[in-house]
Amino acid sequence: MRINEIFRSVQGETSSAGLPTIFVRTGGCNLRCTYCDTPYALTTTGSIHMTVGAIMHEVRKLKTKRVCLTGGEPLIQPRQEVQELLDLLAAEGYEVSIETSGSIPIAAFGLHPKQRWILDMKVPSSGEMEKMKFESLTELRPEDEVKFVVGNYADFRWSVELIKMYDLDGKVQLIFSPVWGQVTPLQLTEWALDTGIDARVQIQLHKIIWHPETRGV
Ligand code: SF4
Repeated sequence: MRINEIFRSVQGETSSAGLPTIFVRTGGCNLRCTYCDTPYALTTTGSIHMTVGAIMHEVRKLKTKRVCLTGGEPLIQPRQEVQELLDLLAAEGYEVSIETSGSIPIAAFGLHPKQRWILDMKVPSSGEMEKMKFESLTELRPEDEVKFVVGNYADFRWSVELIKMYDLDGKVQLIFSPVWGQVTPLQLTEWALDTGIDARVQIQLHKIIWHPETRGV
């Protein structure tokens, strides 16, 4: 599969925020979100082809038992290779999160007990909301996470309606995250508290620790 970078840092988001994590970033994405903060991973330019064995070799060297498979969009890589990587990571005891945009149906992938989805549902201001495969929301387990990166109040209301429509509150982990520089953490926190939904408000930790444009962190 195409790999853009493999590095160790702290997880900036999700329920693993702050914990040491190995990031396996694939190259290429089928979407073009307005607020994309990984433009260098949108195409395969700058990525290399790696076998699953070679990826595992790099992961083992980083001596951390937590992996985030991210992109770009990891699920546009050959399905069998993605599954093989998940199987090998499970066999070697890694905890794994898979960050996917919600545009690729997740039902075709088999997750192991210490593996979970981070489904980044694209809201209207992303420009890619029409490409979401909403049926994936019915495939989620309690440990899976659904993230809404909110760029304005209309995005937030849309997210709340989707949560209600699919009855997600209390059934999966929910995250509201502000588009960096467009919605303040205070605004988002006030909106979130006002709904009564049991969701996590999340600021991207790595953008606070390092400069927001810094790569490989
Ligand atoms: S899905 Fe992620 S990587 Fe792809 S364009 Fe959107 S924000 Fe960027």
